[in-house]
Amino acid sequence: MSIRIDPDTGLKVFNTRAAKASDKISGQGYAVVNDQALKSLPEPPAGAVFNAEEQARYRQFKEARTGAGDYIALEGEFSKYLEDVYSEAPVPREALTDECEILVVGAGFAGLLLWYKLSQAGFKDVRFCEKGGDVGGTWYWNRYPGIACDVESYSYLPLLEETGYIPTMKFASGFEIMEYCQIMAEKFGFYDHCLFHTTVEETRWDDATGRWTVHTDRGDEMKAKFVVIANGILTTPKLAKINGMEKFKGEAFHTSRWDYNVDLKDKRVGIIGTGATAVQAIPELARIVKELYVFQRTPSSIDVRDQRATTPEEIATWQNEPDWARARRARFAKISSVRTAVKANDDYLSGKVEHFKERSGKTERLSPEAHMQKQLDDNFQIMEQIRARVDAIVKDPKTAAALKPYYSYGCKRPTFHDEYLPTFNLPHVTLVDTAPRGVSEINERGVVHDGVEYPLDVLVYATGFQWMATQTFEMIIGREGKSLKQKWSEGGTKTFLGLQSKGFPNLFVMTGPQGGGGSFNFTDTIEDHGDYVLWMMKTMREQGADIVDIKAEPEITYAAHCREVDLATAPLRDCVSYYDHEGKAEPGALVYYGGGRWHKFRVHAQETLEPYVFESVSGQ
Ligand code: NDP
Repeated sequence: MSIRIDPDTGLKVFNTRAAKASDKISGQGYAVVNDQALKSLPEPPAGAVFNAEEQARYRQFKEARTGAGDYIALEGEFSKYLEDVYSEAPVPREALTDECEILVVGAGFAGLLLWYKLSQAGFKDVRFCEKGGDVGGTWYWNRYPGIACDVESYSYLPLLEETGYIPTMKFASGFEIMEYCQIMAEKFGFYDHCLFHTTVEETRWDDATGRWTVHTDRGDEMKAKFVVIANGILTTPKLAKINGMEKFKGEAFHTSRWDYNVDLKDKRVGIIGTGATAVQAIPELARIVKELYVFQRTPSSIDVRDQRATTPEEIATWQNEPDWARARRARFAKISSVRTAVKANDDYLSGKVEHFKERSGKTERLSPEAHMQKQLDDNFQIMEQIRARVDAIVKDPKTAAALKPYYSYGCKRPTFHDEYLPTFNLPHVTLVDTAPRGVSEINERGVVHDGVEYPLDVLVYATGFQWMATQTFEMIIGREGKSLKQKWSEGGTKTFLGLQSKGFPNLFVMTGPQGGGGSFNFTDTIEDHGDYVLWMMKTMREQGADIVDIKAEPEITYAAHCREVDLATAPLRDCVSYYDHEGKAEPGALVYYGGGRWHKFRVHAQETLEPYVFESVSGQ
């Protein structure tokens, strides 16, 4: 039975989890590499400074690519690329027209962690709608060969103490993380609360009842007092816009819908894109296929990964340390540099040493300009080492030259791999440098670039995702009958803490635009956002309030702050990137760059309750 009633609570209990489509869906993440030469960065070339000549080179690299990123949504004939290839058909169920207290969109890390927090605090009338057939979110959809997390798994996986689980590798594979999501869901009773294969198509606020009406693609029309959007920041896949792509006669798919029914053995395979996904997939593809063509527009920075298995000593220690992962995550969160964070120094994270890097002893205070210059110089040195690593590993000088990125570290998503660069030394692997404008033609047989045809049996699109779920905000209709997207496009993105927005009462957006808190570890961010949602629900219970909205002034002030911190740190991100919608986003409209200052806004709001308007619905 897909829906039954719990006799104790009177609440509906769901059984809608779909079965896995095929046992072929399995794989590995980063391998352990023993060759020391592949596990260290060369020293920076002597005298490397970010001088005018190098600055001009970075600028030229950026300008050549500006405007090249042209994407299409996966609609019409391309909607087939969105089909769920990971699960059996949806579990049949009746459409729901009832009411719940809290409706959450998404069953990834954010949904799972929020459920844990809410249920522990006694909120039981919580319902989740999830597009996929099982939990996992990102880790449900992304199951391409080679997938792994880049934040060390001991800090990244939530609730490790509560589940008693210890990841097998320092950087766990996506397949292990997906299974861990299932472990969390089973252990904490999540499956009973989740409607799988259910996509929310619209959620509309009604002032008269103080409820959201949530419409789904399964014909549901549910009422909910609160709606929480927890469907992630890289949710909707996108395809590069390329002439003739509909003509291709071979097999084609996007990396987030990896088709394991397509046997790649002995095939000619092409992959378009060289972002974080492709960097992980390419070494695995090279192990299987007959010929591999990598179509690159912009190279990623390929840093050292240094994968390792969890040691028996660690397992023994952690089994006797009740707070081991929380303590580790707290130490991780103190690291203020992205590279230091993701390099994840074990001595520091395990508490053996107090500081995450050697202290220079200098305490000189720098002016903001001098501080920025120092950051740019340090950044340049790291990129020089990353470029030197390419020369040290890749034998063909033309291929090596094409693989060297000329932009600041962190400007595009940094990647890590000890097998990616050596892959280009293999005789059956070809890098096709399509810089600076990218692949622009596909025909029935394959990709055509610079007058050369590359015939392919299989074409993989590693062309990424819409950043910050732009589609999601179109379907949320607030007090004035306008969508959240409309509000933001007319008056600029305005939120309070990224979590709430005026005119959209009782709505919370986790990890959305302007959402601060957390650290370089995404799990910290969803912890902070989940704690905030829980705090608000408890506060409303205490206040006897039914509705909460935001006043105009606090969100204006907060949006101005987001703009200011974005502009102040912009020189560190001077490249074309999805982080700022390929240079088209307004400053402050997407990622929050204010670091710990988000907490100051949050704490002040929580102590004074000044930003909020609480209301009661009469008769309730
Ligand atoms: P990205 O958006 O990072 O990469 C898309 C790639 O497609 C870019 O290299 C882009 O080039 C290229 N591209 C687009 N159009 C063309 C074209 N016409 N011709 C040639 N190349 C083209 O997507 P990913 O899926 O790689 O990664 C998305 C994000 O997902 C990551 O940044 C990361 O945040 C996350 N992720 C995390 C992982 C982890 O934690 N381990 C692993 C994988 C992904 P250009 O750069 O020039 O635009």
